[in-house]
Amino acid sequence: MDIAATAEKIANGDRRALARAITLAESGRADHRAQATALLETLKPLERQAVRIGLSGTPGVGKSTFIEAFGCLLTGKGLKVAVLAVDPSSARSGGSILGDKTRMERLSRDLNAFIRPSPSQSQLGGVARRTREAIELCEAAGFDVVLIETVGVGQSETMVAEMSDLFVLLLAPAGGDELQGVKRGIMEMADLILVNKADGDLKPAATRTCADYMGALKLLRKRPQDPEGFPKAMMVSALAEEGLEAAWDEMRGLVNWRRETGFFDKARADQSRFWFGEEVRQGLLRRLESAEAKAAVEALAEKVAAGEISASRAAEMVLKNLDGV
Ligand code: GDP
Repeated sequence: MDIAATAEKIANGDRRALARAITLAESGRADHRAQATALLETLKPLERQAVRIGLSGTPGVGKSTFIEAFGCLLTGKGLKVAVLAVDPSSARSGGSILGDKTRMERLSRDLNAFIRPSPSQSQLGGVARRTREAIELCEAAGFDVVLIETVGVGQSETMVAEMSDLFVLLLAPAGGDELQGVKRGIMEMADLILVNKADGDLKPAATRTCADYMGALKLLRKRPQDPEGFPKAMMVSALAEEGLEAAWDEMRGLVNWRRETGFFDKARADQSRFWFGEEVRQGLLRRLESAEAKAAVEALAEKVAAGEISASRAAEMVLKNLDGV
């Protein structure tokens, strides 16, 4: 592949070149990933920056309906919107659920939108890297907003929060007066809680739920990266397309504040640091999984078990030898 030519196409907003580059980043082949890395390095001097919005919510809460309506609202303002999906469950089912184009018909026809379904297979570590690279590729292609969608399961939310400038949690109106069992950790990650389906018969429940979350958010420790009033809960109806403009105003306000105060850049720098550490860890783990390393560990384990060598000495030998693997 001609890296320079592809980079130029991406920089000019060529969607097919962008899609192909993301496929490279997603590939299991080392040479493909190397090409993706080279592409990103070539595109780096452009220094284009999108607002990266992480969006999480359990299945059925209305994520696709929201993204469709919200995405169209943004493209209506002349903004270019990319939607990426992180779906850890697709690793098991082997198929993509999130980001399915048929779910967002209107947005997928929009020339200012780019929707990338979640790739199947692989563990979360691999998903993290390719999602980060896909985000960067979308930024280089000139997208103004990158929405990173994930289902509210497992560690995918933490991962998405670690690659987003702001994290939005979509919730449904609660039936009772309980806080829907939303884990505290997830609430602590949220910058904005959107109680969706605030329409029709569900409106009173949505109002109560929103007030409950407002109360719960007030009890959280104030974070330095939050202006007055954040994190915040508000009501929207993705279906009736209500409250979306207000939600965007809040998001923009928050991002602008963080930009002005330096928290925006600081968060990105911290995230880069974090992912660098993760990559090193992942790389080491991959080496440990190699056939040679496994064989060496097993052979040494026998010796450790037989008392011929100490556990610490054996571990030291393994780690030293990983350099050569
Ligand atoms: P996802 O699984 O989180 O992507 O949820 P969907 O967007 O597929 O929505 C699940 C169901 O909730 C669908 O039947 C939607 O029509 C419905 N839904 C989504 N948003 C709203 C809303 O704002 N109000 C109402 N009443 N229903 C909604």
